[in-house]
Amino acid sequence: MAAVELAAALSGSGTAAAGPGGKVECPAGLVCHLTPAAANNYDTAERPDDGDGIRYIVIHDTEERYDLAVARFQNPSSRVSAHYVIRSSDGQITQLVRTRDIAHHTGNYWFNMHSIGIEHEGVLVDGARWYTTPMYQASARLVRYLAARYHIPLDRNHILSHEEIPGSTPEDVAGMHYDPGPYWDWARYFHLLGAPLWDSPLPPARIPATLVVTIAPRFPTNSEPVQSCVGDSCTALPRQGSNMVYLHTGPSLEAPLIRDPALHPDGSPGTTRVADWSAKAVTGQSFVVAGRTSGWTAIWFGGQMAWFHDPLNQVSALGHGPLITPRPGRPAIPVYGAAFPEAAAYPPAIPVTAVVPLQYTIPAGQFYVGVDRGFGDYYVRHSHDLVVGNRRLVEISFNHRRAFVDASDVLILR
Ligand SMILES: [Zn+2]
Repeated sequence: MAAVELAAALSGSGTAAAGPGGKVECPAGLVCHLTPAAANNYDTAERPDDGDGIRYIVIHDTEERYDLAVARFQNPSSRVSAHYVIRSSDGQITQLVRTRDIAHHTGNYWFNMHSIGIEHEGVLVDGARWYTTPMYQASARLVRYLAARYHIPLDRNHILSHEEIPGSTPEDVAGMHYDPGPYWDWARYFHLLGAPLWDSPLPPARIPATLVVTIAPRFPTNSEPVQSCVGDSCTALPRQGSNMVYLHTGPSLEAPLIRDPALHPDGSPGTTRVADWSAKAVTGQSFVVAGRTSGWTAIWFGGQMAWFHDPLNQVSALGHGPLITPRPGRPAIPVYGAAFPEAAAYPPAIPVTAVVPLQYTIPAGQFYVGVDRGFGDYYVRHSHDLVVGNRRLVEISFNHRRAFVDASDVLILR
């Protein structure tokens, strides 16, 4: 972002704190209202001054009307909130939680600790018709303003969707949300953010081994089959542009989709159901190339080798980033859904949040893109303390969602 743009982003109407009696935190030129969420529905904090850094912006859709979403976050029995809700028809914004406070929007407390949540009025199975130009424009302006203020990089490692947030425990994984879904146009959104996702698709040449690819289908023409299901009664959604590619167990459209152990504990393959994120790789996500054959690229994904069809070399673009792989001598390493500190880091008065591995592992010989690394931390909502441990974690692009590995379990290759 250029200096002039940064100054413009910071000159908004609400650089002061929002909240009851405060100002709305919005850039100038947007229609923003302040309607505080019920106090029950978020945690007060002083981010980032209390040490709890704001690292991510998480994109959601409401699955209900704008006014109903706002009302839900004002209802103390809902226990949920987002910092902002944006209206489909005109891009009007309601702020409900101050950005320094922690909204309950991802279902994963560690990601709530470190993020700002933005809800977009929409119903994901209805397709892109909810995601209007005024909504994309208002959202992008808001995100540029927030990113400038909190020094959040405008890339897909930091502008996430709810569907990329992992469960923090194995029990949570299967129920994690999958919004805003396949019809959110990430490429268009990042164009509006002034940070295009890729310069050009891969040239039609051999992709060398141990290379990173970013998923980069052309949204308008990337029409993948998707089903909407109630129980076992499914209907095919109308074919339309989408942001994802399906992942197969081999380089063939006849090969089964890869499975996720949380969604398919019986070992059955992934499906094209809209709620089934087993075998969907999404625009802007980066993975390490595991193999290549005519028209097909394999990546390491969720502990498996996963193939996507790319006959015209237009579905992926060159990516970058440090790589992680299990340390020599480790047949497989654990994977985590949150970067909480080790138990010994907690003062005696503060209950320990257990560090529990998820139902995935990374076998020896696989590589993943490392996104960030740091020490485990936990914000204590009642005392406002931040517990920071000595446990060093690496955040990775793992499957449809993010994950963490212990730095002591991996080699980090640049
Ligand atoms: Zn959501």
